[in-house]
Amino acid sequence: MNVKPSHLFYQGRERKPVLDQARGVYMWDVDGKRYLDGSSGAMVCNIGHSNENVLEAMRRQMEKSTFGYRLHFETEASEKLAAKTAALCPEGLNRVFFVSGGSEAVESALKLARQYALAIGEGSRWKIISRAPSYHGCTLGALAVTSYAPLTEPFAPLMQAMPKIPAPRAYLDGFDPEDEATGHHYADMLEAKIVEEGPDSVLAFLVEPIGGASTGALVPPRGYMERVQEICRKHGVLLILDEVMTGAGRTGKFLASEHWGLAPDIIVMSKGFAAGYVPLGAMVAHERLVEAVLDAGGFLHGYTYAGNPLACAAGLAVIDEIERQDLVGNAARMGVKLKERLEGLMQRYAIIGDVRGKGLLTAFEFMADRGSKAPLPKHLQAFNRFVQIAYDKGLIVYSRRTRDGVEGDHIIVAPPMIVTETHLDE
Ligand code: PLP
Repeated sequence: MNVKPSHLFYQGRERKPVLDQARGVYMWDVDGKRYLDGSSGAMVCNIGHSNENVLEAMRRQMEKSTFGYRLHFETEASEKLAAKTAALCPEGLNRVFFVSGGSEAVESALKLARQYALAIGEGSRWKIISRAPSYHGCTLGALAVTSYAPLTEPFAPLMQAMPKIPAPRAYLDGFDPEDEATGHHYADMLEAKIVEEGPDSVLAFLVEPIGGASTGALVPPRGYMERVQEICRKHGVLLILDEVMTGAGRTGKFLASEHWGLAPDIIVMSKGFAAGYVPLGAMVAHERLVEAVLDAGGFLHGYTYAGNPLACAAGLAVIDEIERQDLVGNAARMGVKLKERLEGLMQRYAIIGDVRGKGLLTAFEFMADRGSKAPLPKHLQAFNRFVQIAYDKGLIVYSRRTRDGVEGDHIIVAPPMIVTETHLDE
């Protein structure tokens, strides 16, 4: 491994292997060591690495143009990708605003929602309710609606405090996730919070349909999402779905919200949307919202790199590959097999306290005791050790603490959607 001093810094002092090449589900470092990309990076490389058709589409676009400022030019690539994205979203969600990542997509959604409220004469609405724990991004707006103490606390003075409700972690609270009463129990916390805050002050509810980084592939209990949508409608609260991680097929549907036939007001996507070939994300909004905002003078927001033609050409080619290879179907099929294998590990190892997920977004959580759901003692640093062992053996997984403030270690297993059973066995 390369251990030379570096001018680069991200999180800590720990150094990582230097990446040389990546193909399909595998990656190689400069020492020639091979890794199986068991988490698609950070649930990003959904179609696998170095897909020739995507590279060729990018090459073609680069030969035409690599940048056109969005306020000067529209491009064929951005028009086509917007139309394709709208066609894959629920009816009415047909206005697409491109960004370069998940945090930008969330920021854009919050601002569009607020401008919509102002445009329709409901300026008293500004509070965004979200869940604890949750992760919606690292920029200050997205962080204000995130709930994960280690990342949010230091910056609290810089942010407007926003109301939170508990994430529906039925597995920790001892409820049956298959029982609709469980789903309603958690969804009704949203209604109680709206009433407590004053319905006229609440602008939106922001939620990951299947929890990602902070809750580890948390599938909501039966009836939860439908009830949440009903409550939002009843109180005139916008429903914003954060599909940054779940979108583009990862959970076995193009959008996770399709599992429940939801009709949100805004959906945000990134990660698998351009599958790591370029930085790209999108906010897709209902035409009703966008028309009102445009009528009122325009959307007061935008990024320099929004709608970059190279990014859009890559995004379009990624969706083409998802469709051509039926990768959404493969995510659904392989997801069932992956979950079976993780459940098999749970039978063998008492330290695995829960296995969860949908499609190829799966996770397992380490616990000291399955009965009490007690987390592992902090000093064990279980996931750091697990991740290191996996690395040593040439497997990449994604890890995060799930229990805000307390420890609770989950490992996300989310290989590229081109994965086969042979890879799962490996
Ligand atoms: N929303 C969700 C659900 C995410 O998982 C993430 C990143 O992990 C984000 C937003 C932020 O995306 P980005 O890191 O691209 O800014």
